[in-house]
Amino acid sequence: MIIIMKPDIDPAGSEVTRIFNFLSHFSDIKTMTSGVKGTSRMVTEIYLIGPTHNIPQDAVERFAGVEKVVRVSSKYRLIGNHGGQLDELGFEYNGLQFNQNSFHVFLGPCAVDTYEHTELMFKKFQELGIQTTRMGAYKPRTSPYDFQGHGATCLPWVFELAGKYGIKVIAMEVLKEVHIDELQRALEEAGKPTGIMLQVGTRNAQNFELLKAVGSQQEFPVLYKRGMGLSIEESLNACEYIASEGNRNIIFCLRGVKTRLGDPHRNLVDFIHVPVIKRLTRLPVCVDPTHSVGIKTMASDGILEIFHATSQGVAVGANMLLIECHPKPELAMCDGPQALTLVELDHLMQDIEISRNAYIARKELASRKALERLTGICSV
Ligand code: PEP
Ligand code: MN
Repeated sequence: MIIIMKPDIDPAGSEVTRIFNFLSHFSDIKTMTSGVKGTSRMVTEIYLIGPTHNIPQDAVERFAGVEKVVRVSSKYRLIGNHGGQLDELGFEYNGLQFNQNSFHVFLGPCAVDTYEHTELMFKKFQELGIQTTRMGAYKPRTSPYDFQGHGATCLPWVFELAGKYGIKVIAMEVLKEVHIDELQRALEEAGKPTGIMLQVGTRNAQNFELLKAVGSQQEFPVLYKRGMGLSIEESLNACEYIASEGNRNIIFCLRGVKTRLGDPHRNLVDFIHVPVIKRLTRLPVCVDPTHSVGIKTMASDGILEIFHATSQGVAVGANMLLIECHPKPELAMCDGPQALTLVELDHLMQDIEISRNAYIARKELASRKALERLTGICSV
């Protein structure tokens, strides 16, 4: 059961206290209160866990300050949208809004390599008006002999450069709990010139201890990448793990699924699940065309296949893109063959704009058609 308070009710105020007093008469009920930032308002939600069937819904609804009470299904209790009865779960981080309507492009290399390459990229992003980037300091690699990332040693100069070029959020993968502490410490020591989004990679999609670790801290939002061989249900349950530890600032990322049926691409593109995730949950959804396609082939229409996959995700409402680039892909320490060059980014951004405008136009058309149906029914 979720009790949704009217906008701007103080979670520590008397309205909420009176509800807690009432709930104390029901045994084995655990409560969790959280502020949810919707698109236009801040709402307090009280989650009740336990045998809530004994609690009369109408009695709770009569309390002052209560907007509505929703009985939730046991599935995706915290991240689910429960039949559209709840507001989306948006959040603000370092001055940027992330929700099911927002749109951000995260460009960057697979792995941080040199200061010079990083500066060249950040300069280019600034020129393009982009304040968000992706890059790994800790890399999980298939072969133990491949470059595993610079680790914490590169963080001071990466953060300094990010501050210099106005980068507000860096998506960075973490492989274990200590990486979160290292990022936090390095960011603090650098004077917080930027922000970090903790990325849980596809290889750790069911690493429950890591999920609990990113979920039990509140400072950084989490970018969760779908397990390459996991069903949507399994991956959403993994996100529920993160949320159940207290952190609901989560973005769900589709990155393709592993099957030979995706050949010649690295993975089979699964971006039609963008609207599915938005329907089942309250989370913003990201797509990663780079790791889905995995090769830089040009289609016969003169458009890179990575651009085509990007367009698929954007045209169905993706809220965020994760795309790899590198100033000299041939020198990249990881995933060079799939990285776009900086010259190709101008084309990419214009192409993205076309697809984003198409999505906005499609949404407007759908709401016009819904209105027409409604007025048609009324006039019958
Ligand atoms: C990445 O984004 O760098 C990455 C390794 O992706 P994935 O976990 O989806 O393979
Ligand atoms: Mn990569």
